[in-house]
Amino acid sequence: MEFDLIESLRRGTHLDRADVALGIGDDAALLEVPEGTQLVACTDTMVAGVHFLAGTPAEDLGWKSLAVNLSDLAAMGAVPMWALLALTLPDGDPDFVTRFGAGFARLARMHGVALVGGDTTQGPLAITVTALGSVPRGKALTRAGARPGDAVFVTGNLGDAAAALGLRRRGATPPPELVERMQRPVPRVAAGLALRGVATACIDVSDGLVADLGHVCTGSRVGAELDASEMPVSATLAAACDAVAGRDLALSGGDDYELCFTVPAARAAEAAAALAGVACRATRIGRIVAGAGVRVLDSRGQPIVLAHPGWEHFA
Ligand code: ADP
Ligand code: MG
Repeated sequence: MEFDLIESLRRGTHLDRADVALGIGDDAALLEVPEGTQLVACTDTMVAGVHFLAGTPAEDLGWKSLAVNLSDLAAMGAVPMWALLALTLPDGDPDFVTRFGAGFARLARMHGVALVGGDTTQGPLAITVTALGSVPRGKALTRAGARPGDAVFVTGNLGDAAAALGLRRRGATPPPELVERMQRPVPRVAAGLALRGVATACIDVSDGLVADLGHVCTGSRVGAELDASEMPVSATLAAACDAVAGRDLALSGGDDYELCFTVPAARAAEAAAALAGVACRATRIGRIVAGAGVRVLDSRGQPIVLAHPGWEHFA
């Protein structure tokens, strides 16, 4: 049974890559790492009831479990190459696995990512994906390079996914555009590549903008100011709630998988042009300052205190 499931995943996700010397089927995969590059590795787990609601379509789980990992690679400026998948399933429902594999494969193909291994066990539904990619040696985007005076940008819109989750939790039916953003986030892989050599620091927004920019501040030993009135919010979100609620979802909702990055103020136009070249919009939302921590300012420059600054396990 387990082996039928693995075989179904292998077939459903198959993609030829010359750098996979040995893929699914042996004790471990053998991968050729390109000369002059660093291997970039990340992993993320999704647990039923914690990271997704019961009843989420299997296709969407397959897509999202890979998407959140490709988002981490994007935030490093890495080219995605390979993935491993550890699946814990309550029962060996072959239909679930087929549909999960189809969602996973759809995104994997878009980025030429080969599934090269994993593990399949029985237990409460949980999905762990490990993604591997590469970056030219020394060129990765980290959280450590932001400097006072840098401009802070974010790609796309914020708050849509958190709004969808909030509406679902209250028993309401969210607009389909918001559900799409929650269940099928699009990792900003091309944007991450375009920002190499321009951005001084980069992070993907998963826990919430304020919390994640806070990680950049810690990593770079600087502070940041965010202009709350500059938050990029979709028309759908703006129509679904009042302006303050939309702004707060953008600042702290999380699950956005947009890239928040810093760039020297003199190179802001260059960064925007690099992103425009990959059809990605970015909004200037604040600045890096000396000090520590993130301050959120209203349109008159007065500090705003957020009720829920971000998502944290074990809080
Ligand atoms: P082992 O007992 O040596 O760990 P397994 O029976 O767990 O081997 O796995 C057999 C092969 O199938 C391995 O190559 C493994 O990487 C692959 N595999 C197992 N589960 C998955 C999965 N969910 N997705 C992709 N590959 C998998
Ligand atoms: Mg195993």
